[in-house]
Amino acid sequence: IDIDVCDLRLVEELGKGINGPVNKMEHIRSGEVMAVKKIQHISYDPLDEKRLLMDLETNMKSKKLPHTVKFYGALYYEGDVWICMEVMDTSLDKFYHKVYALNRTIPEEIIGQIAICVIVALQKLKQELKIAHRDVKPSNILLNRDGEVKICDYGISGRLENSLTQSYVGTQMYMAPEYIDPAKDRRKGFSVRADVWSLGLTLMEIAIGQFPYKKCESAFQQVKVVVHGNPPRLPEGKYSAEFSDFIATCLTKEEEKRPKFIGLLEHPFIIRAKENSDVNLGAFVREILDGSS
Ligand code: ADP
Ligand code: MG
Repeated sequence: IDIDVCDLRLVEELGKGINGPVNKMEHIRSGEVMAVKKIQHISYDPLDEKRLLMDLETNMKSKKLPHTVKFYGALYYEGDVWICMEVMDTSLDKFYHKVYALNRTIPEEIIGQIAICVIVALQKLKQELKIAHRDVKPSNILLNRDGEVKICDYGISGRLENSLTQSYVGTQMYMAPEYIDPAKDRRKGFSVRADVWSLGLTLMEIAIGQFPYKKCESAFQQVKVVVHGNPPRLPEGKYSAEFSDFIATCLTKEEEKRPKFIGLLEHPFIIRAKENSDVNLGAFVREILDGSS
């Protein structure tokens, strides 16, 4: 669809990120409802960046990637960029907080299904668009009542936001040790292995109901703990050996020893999850969001 800012009507606010709000909006002429992310005050766009964004935009529009929110287009409006994408019912961060508020936990089988979808999505993203995600975390994994799992904020949105927020603010850090270690040379670029680390932290977080690292005073402290400390592990006794090993595998500190997504697909936890086809993710999402399935 061809979208114009005047054709969009606000339905409700879905959430707020550091760069601006994400709103549910209706495209009046088509009746299509979408999520619109406003990235505020883009003042300067180097030519390279712009070309890159345009390339990505075309690619993202033309390629249909599995388990990835549909991208409708980017609008430029009064110095802001509006990213229009498919709307989902919730994100993993909101969802797990709801689950724990109900005194429940997310079963391993459910986490397995989510893991498969995210791994497939990230692997295809790399294969088809030649990009790593760079911002894998619970709020960038979306769910709906049909039991669909989709990643968002890759590509355009991710690039704009990364260039905006040069340094990371906040104390929850999903970045891999090799990527934040000031002693390491980062010029060789971002590897998908860093996304594997972030995925490990994300899945561990939704399993235990809190961010796996202890709260730190500052981002500086957090960097120290991630770079020099032992990686987090699932507590013993509560989870299957396969799941514990899967998390430990994702959270391998040495980049070279950490598998890529292809490797992860061979892990016993994922193989078991693939065989377990009677898990009803949609029913679980409806149960948590609506109190009935
Ligand atoms: P962050 O991901 O850092 O929380 P964002 O600005 O990307 O910040 O998103 C803010 C919130 O908006 C997210 O936490 C999520 O709950 C919600 N959100 C983002 N995109 C969508 C979408 N396509 N559908 C539904 N909710 C979304
Ligand atoms: Mg996001």
